[in-house]
Amino acid sequence: MPQPTHRAVRRDRNGALALQSVSLPNAGRHDVVVKPLMVGICGTDLQILRGQRGDAATILGHEGIGTVTWSGATALHAGDLVVFNPVNPLAQDDILGHSRDGLLQECVLVDGEHVASGTILPMDRDVPPSLDRTTSALLAWGRRRLVSARCPIEVKRRAGRPFD
Ligand SMILES: [Zn+2]
Repeated sequence: MPQPTHRAVRRDRNGALALQSVSLPNAGRHDVVVKPLMVGICGTDLQILRGQRGDAATILGHEGIGTVTWSGATALHAGDLVVFNPVNPLAQDDILGHSRDGLLQECVLVDGEHVASGTILPMDRDVPPSLDRTTSALLAWGRRRLVSARCPIEVKRRAGRPFD
């Protein structure tokens, strides 16, 4: 039986992007599979594509939201909206779309270790129900980003790296 695949936007060493079929990873007991809904492209992504940074990820995208499609984690369930926290709170060099593959793919497997460390966060549930899902997601994302961005910004300041 052939290995199931999904599509991803991959970059090559020259920064060229191509839509490719890639193997669909098998989810483990504590893993979560998320379907990205919105993915931002920021200045850092452009720097990576221009070869101005040495990031290892071949699939970019570190800012975004998605829907859980399968969950082995008790705190998350299929259908939940989540925000991706790009920087692993327990390891500042572990960055989505930089040191490991990012969100420009149909499915993102978040292993149990990353789930436990807070690299995906459930969306706020106190958003007024009158708002559509996209607006709610953006509001929640912005609020989360304001809170969670403090630590990475401090790290970047100390390292003398520009903000994205
Ligand atoms: Zn960015």
